[in-house]
Amino acid sequence: MLLKDLKQIFHKELDAIYGEDEVRSFFFMLTENYFNVSRLDLAMQPNLALTTSEHPKIMEALSLLKTEFPIQYILKETEFYGFPFKVTKSTLIPRSETEELVTWVSETIKGLEISNNKLNLLDIGTGSGCIAISLAKILPGLKAVALDVSKEALVVAKENAVINKVDVQFVQANILETHSGLFPETLDVIVSNPPYVRELEKKEMKPNVLNNEPHLALFVDDDNALQFYKAIIEFAKLHLKDNGFLFFEINEYLGQEMKALLQENNFTDIELRKDIFGRDRMIKGVKK
Ligand code: GLN
Repeated sequence: MLLKDLKQIFHKELDAIYGEDEVRSFFFMLTENYFNVSRLDLAMQPNLALTTSEHPKIMEALSLLKTEFPIQYILKETEFYGFPFKVTKSTLIPRSETEELVTWVSETIKGLEISNNKLNLLDIGTGSGCIAISLAKILPGLKAVALDVSKEALVVAKENAVINKVDVQFVQANILETHSGLFPETLDVIVSNPPYVRELEKKEMKPNVLNNEPHLALFVDDDNALQFYKAIIEFAKLHLKDNGFLFFEINEYLGQEMKALLQENNFTDIELRKDIFGRDRMIKGVKK
């Protein structure tokens, strides 16, 4: 089959779901990834054809896209902060809001390691490892440790550290349980993007997220929505140095509650920030 004919099939089957531009970009992501054929290649060689062995693979991707299965899970990779990341159904697909959190953390702590040797950072609920690994890429003076409850996610995160050639230490643990002794060193920075979506917000979620991304990484009980933040704050009281930083990605509807929670726990220099969509999305506090 000619690639240009296959492209027409993609448009016919998928434009109503995604829109023409997105379908074009999916098509070329697949042809580049599977067959090393770019948009330019097809423009210059309009009669490029698929072999019979290539055909089933791309047709399978088409049928998955029809069910709104995320392209990142089909390709098993994505980009975060300009770096390549492997993703599977055991990890969330990293969000652009989380890139904004990474920028905030790196701008706050860059330079601090000069007076302080290496900075110790812990990422709690690392998933694909995107926060810890990107920060380790940007800040060579960082000693990053990343924790997750999911063994499957940690397999992916470890691969991502290798792919990105950074040295991050990974630990399997549940932050809701106690961990005295697990982190003997005092930490300079704790960062976390824990689960924070309430059942009542499920109806706002897109089916591609709801049906495919790991619920373990997304959802909390309506009546205990700050459960992870509370546990991490208790952990920070034990393991964060005085003047150490705590950064969270947060539920956009719980900004004021998060501010109050950090205040109650005597954190200072509390700052709530919005993401580029204008939603309360991240918060910082300093331990005193
Ligand atoms: N922002 C993500 C979403 O809306 C949720 C991330 C999280 O729960 N930590 O899908």
